[in-house]
Amino acid sequence: MNYYSTNHNTPDVTLDLAVNQGLAADRGLFMPERIVPMPESFFKEIDGMNFQEISFEVAKHFFGEDIPEYTLQKIVFNTLSFDTPLVSVSKDIYSLELFHGPTAAFKDVGARFMARLLSHFLGKEKKMVHVLVATSGDTGSAVANGFLGVPGIKVHVLYPKGKVSEIQEMQFTTLGQNITALEVEGTFDDCQALVKSAFMDDVLKKQITITSANSINVARFLPQAFYYFNAWAKLEDKSREVVFSVPSGNFGNLTAGLFAKKMGLPIHKFIAANNLNDIVFQYLKTGVYSPRPSVSTIANAMDVGDPSNFARILDLYKNDHSAIAADMVGTTYNDEQIRETLLAVFQQTGYLLDPHGAVGYRALQELLKDGETGIFLETAHPAKFTDTVEPIVGKGNVPMPQKLQNFMKGTKQTIQLSSDYSAFRAYLNELD
Ligand SMILES: *Cc1c(COP(=O)(O)O)cnc(C)c1O
Repeated sequence: MNYYSTNHNTPDVTLDLAVNQGLAADRGLFMPERIVPMPESFFKEIDGMNFQEISFEVAKHFFGEDIPEYTLQKIVFNTLSFDTPLVSVSKDIYSLELFHGPTAAFKDVGARFMARLLSHFLGKEKKMVHVLVATSGDTGSAVANGFLGVPGIKVHVLYPKGKVSEIQEMQFTTLGQNITALEVEGTFDDCQALVKSAFMDDVLKKQITITSANSINVARFLPQAFYYFNAWAKLEDKSREVVFSVPSGNFGNLTAGLFAKKMGLPIHKFIAANNLNDIVFQYLKTGVYSPRPSVSTIANAMDVGDPSNFARILDLYKNDHSAIAADMVGTTYNDEQIRETLLAVFQQTGYLLDPHGAVGYRALQELLKDGETGIFLETAHPAKFTDTVEPIVGKGNVPMPQKLQNFMKGTKQTIQLSSDYSAFRAYLNELD
């Protein structure tokens, strides 16, 4: 299947190229040329299938023409070595726990899938591919762990020195093998600028093969549809209307849900749950999309002022605001409301939300109608945000899962770098 650009100003490309390029040549985002609905028989059998089996069936509809079935099965099964359980939290409200992967955030799904797909496309080629990724925290850990040990690929994580949490830093600086962490004297924007400069450096691109594992990559984005189907499979009462509440930043997660709906999954509505960065909420209200600089919140993975996947949503709905607003409602909460919800849910139900999941939960609490079932995406484990969560619920109430504790035992290894491109260029020069 071919992939077109949302800007429609460049020829369609194969999956291989779409994954390798990340962004289309005209700066648009890649979209599959067709969305193939799942057959009725799939929905009849879904109850008896596990997460891997469900995902493999869905994956065939995306990638089946481009990857041999046996290989695709291996990629899907290896990617999903963990489950996404559906946990009842309160009346009619469920948490879809997406934090059971290696770095305890939903980005593990897309990052692990992309690593394996890229490795497949490299095939027997002897060339080494260098993945450059700038991170403010979560993306670096998911990408580094997703690509860890994958042959033919080296990952270079650029992060701002002193500006990520300790657990986040340990998740990508202690791995060794094919992962190198570059500690940049500067901000996240400086890191991103260094990566961008490398991609514009034609001389460099003749020397080494570089690619990006940014979340706009179709190989990271499409697999996120898998767990919407898994959530549906696990619902006992499928006769009620289902509302998904998605804590959103760049809107990759929510857009993958829209794909699931287009493939026939009976989702009644989506809630675009925003923190104070409520650009999409405003768009849904007014029909006007006005990006603006992001503001910092305690749900910081959602601090996005110009959500990159919004272009995909517009494309899916052919720019029809009323069609979008028919499938999606928005909400926005400030830090005080997020704290209040996190504490109230913990006290009343014993369930510990993370700040992002708290936004999703509150949206259901306020918007769910009688007779509807609400599912919010719990996008990360609360222990990833201990500094925020512990002061809210009290000391000793945020247990750290073993897999996160293990990262803390490792030894941090980084290469120090100034924010000047010539230093980064010199580093890249040594690679082959
Ligand atoms: C990345 C992230 C989000 C935002 O997801 P998008 O797909 O960018 O909307 C929400 N919560 C957590 C914990 C994240 O890491």
